[in-house]
Amino acid sequence: MIIKTSGIVVSGQAISERDKLITILTEKEGLIRAFAKGVKSFKGFNSLASSLFCYSDFVFYKGRNSYNLSEACAIKFFFDLRNNLEKLSLAEYFCELIISLCVQPQEAKEILRLVLNSLHFLSKETIPRPILKSVFEIKILSASGYLPNLLNCKKCLTNCEDEFYLVIKEGSLYCKKCFCKSKNPCVKLSRGALFALRYVISSPLKKAFHFSISEESKRKFCRACEEYTINCIEKKIHTLTFYKQVCKI
Ligand SMILES: [Zn+2]
Repeated sequence: MIIKTSGIVVSGQAISERDKLITILTEKEGLIRAFAKGVKSFKGFNSLASSLFCYSDFVFYKGRNSYNLSEACAIKFFFDLRNNLEKLSLAEYFCELIISLCVQPQEAKEILRLVLNSLHFLSKETIPRPILKSVFEIKILSASGYLPNLLNCKKCLTNCEDEFYLVIKEGSLYCKKCFCKSKNPCVKLSRGALFALRYVISSPLKKAFHFSISEESKRKFCRACEEYTINCIEKKIHTLTFYKQVCKI
């Protein structure tokens, strides 16, 4: 069967001098692994189109157990990412989250748009990097079945306190009165941090990256997003460790 779809390359591995195994987040089929045979000698083949972070139109032959790439035409390549180790390592972290979370073979239009927007902002440096990272984290988790419950206190249902605690393992909020310390680990959220989380989750993509927040609330917002991500992924995220080493954070 022939499949035509656009997608972005999130991982690539050489399996011989001419052949590669690439992982692509595609619009129609979700995350797929495809053999790209004879990449360098393929007539008319745009070899850039199958390289990491390239958004391309692809044609695959879908066999019983594998996909084979037959054509690729580059639409957009984020060149700026390769010139800066901080940008590159954050882009690789985004790719690791995609590979860990997009496990269902289903349409991935929304997540694909999230990745393309995020890589564009990362490349052009138009959004502060900690905000960009956090928005990507909470948006991809929400779209992958890990939507935290941020409406009100899980126990007494209040939503008008100044301080809440996000219990990371549950993805639930507790007010000061109901929060039990044994429920750790948690992140204490200010009103501003909670507002930002709710705003990002409920906003369409074109608005989700744009909001103002105080420095203190930003720290709590970013910490909540990162800790919730680590909890949901349930394994060591090597690219996150590397990104933090590179940025010394
Ligand atoms: Zn409560």
